[in-house]
Amino acid sequence: MMSAIFSGIGALKTRIDVVKTSVAVRDDDMIASALREMTDRLFDIQQASVLVQQDNLALIVQNKQSVELQTVLEKKYAQLLVAFDGAVKVSEDLHRYALYTTARGGIVMHCKNPKSPVEEAIYLCASCAGEGKKTILQLDTYLWLRCPQHGKVGSDIPDSGPNVMMF
Ligand SMILES: [Zn+2]
Repeated sequence: MMSAIFSGIGALKTRIDVVKTSVAVRDDDMIASALREMTDRLFDIQQASVLVQQDNLALIVQNKQSVELQTVLEKKYAQLLVAFDGAVKVSEDLHRYALYTTARGGIVMHCKNPKSPVEEAIYLCASCAGEGKKTILQLDTYLWLRCPQHGKVGSDIPDSGPNVMMF
């Protein structure tokens, strides 16, 4: 669009030279024709200027949208970094656990080297651990531990012994 403006200015300068020549030779028809041409070139330049202004407005809007998108992407990136750090911490913590079969045959994750009685009592869901999540199984009933996502697994509470039925 800028090239149209420069081209129009060049054509206008040529018309001005024609007007100067026409005035010098005192040719009224040539002067009138050159003035019409000058008016047409001025109109062309004005039209090109309007188009350049429209393009500039579109670029301003596009630039604003790009800045907004960049802000959104920077926030998402920061959130992903936090999530990644959390996932790394969970992964490191899960390495402290190993598969373990409870007294009732449930497959869970249990701490390899518990540092406290509380940690000794914690069982993790093996399915969740396989997905990189740390879910502490909660005692559902006397015989079962429960994962909110994967359901029940046999607890580590042993049978009290064979049930003797007396008849
Ligand atoms: Zn689970």
